[in-house]
Amino acid sequence: MTTTLKTDLTIADIVNGFTYNELEGKGLFGWGGKLVIQPEYQRNYIYADGKRDVAVVDSLLKGYPIGLIYFVKTAEGKYEVLDGQQRITSFGRFVTDKFPYTGADGRERNFTSLPADQKDLLLKTPLTIYICEGKESEIKEWFKTINIAGVPLNEQELLNAIYSGPFVTKTKEEFSNSMKPTLQKWKAYVRGNEKRQEILREALSWVSKGDIDGYMAKHRFDADIAELKTYFTTVIDWAGTVFAGVEDEMCGLDWGRLYETYHANAYDPAKVWARVKELYADEFVRNRKGIFEYVLGGEKDTRLLDVRVFEPKETKAVYAKQTATAEKKGISNCPLCAIGHDANAKRIWKFSEMDADHVTPWSKGGATDIKNCQMLCRTHNRAKGNR
Ligand SMILES: [Zn+2]
Repeated sequence: MTTTLKTDLTIADIVNGFTYNELEGKGLFGWGGKLVIQPEYQRNYIYADGKRDVAVVDSLLKGYPIGLIYFVKTAEGKYEVLDGQQRITSFGRFVTDKFPYTGADGRERNFTSLPADQKDLLLKTPLTIYICEGKESEIKEWFKTINIAGVPLNEQELLNAIYSGPFVTKTKEEFSNSMKPTLQKWKAYVRGNEKRQEILREALSWVSKGDIDGYMAKHRFDADIAELKTYFTTVIDWAGTVFAGVEDEMCGLDWGRLYETYHANAYDPAKVWARVKELYADEFVRNRKGIFEYVLGGEKDTRLLDVRVFEPKETKAVYAKQTATAEKKGISNCPLCAIGHDANAKRIWKFSEMDADHVTPWSKGGATDIKNCQMLCRTHNRAKGNR
């Protein structure tokens, strides 16, 4: 079976030629006659209870998605709705004025009497449609898969269904197996539920550098998943070697990217872990998730740590004091301008033209404390950089 994603059809396209059988309560045809809305194996239309059909219209008018729709392409080149007939019949009936919608103002309106912009919004809504082609037995199997009682498939589960085959079977044995002894170790680094294919998703994302769909398409018929397994294990082992301990914030980091960026560098695990511990204890570090990449990158990019900055009441006090002193001496209130020889040597900057600076940078042990704060003009603050 093959599956193609189609995103260029709108509600207007689907309701073109929409016909509804009042007696049987069935949506029959749409898409200019190309679409059979309710093939025989489908459930009867059960949305006409004045709640669920209205809910579909309500979602559309609010711009919310109404979910994936599946068509089957038949041998005759027409299409049958595999999943989504209830939603299609709901908006088809609404557009043909079969039931009214109560707006935010409490007034009931049928489609024809809606304001033009609302009509337009509804008709131009694009739909996300998967078109399946294949043998009837395959399609029935697929229909069973996508209809797991009331639980919508997540993206990875959907990809597993689309690319079903030996590769998916093998990857599930490896990455969705709750009995696997290594799973606990993996979960220190990867967030997610193995049963919902979330560990697999991360493994695929790492090995494919984010192109999961492309990777699965390419390997669909492979029974060998060695590349995926080896890459995943390599990344996890690397993380476990460089960082000698485990912290909660390590879980869910993009280890694939960290591995690609830093694995060629040599680290002393004991020193690395000692630094991690120190940074965990540093009250100025507000983003603990950033500690790991900060250390891997040689402690250069303090932005990763979101170090606490000076509060406005602190910077205003420092500005007032610095400016008063400068005016008395007839020099610039930016101490770096004041020791220069250009036109700015006597310039008094406005508060809005200056930034707060750590006299001793945070990375050299300087605290975010008013005693360690000075105001610099923008140019000098940028030039100093390291805070
Ligand atoms: Zn300056």
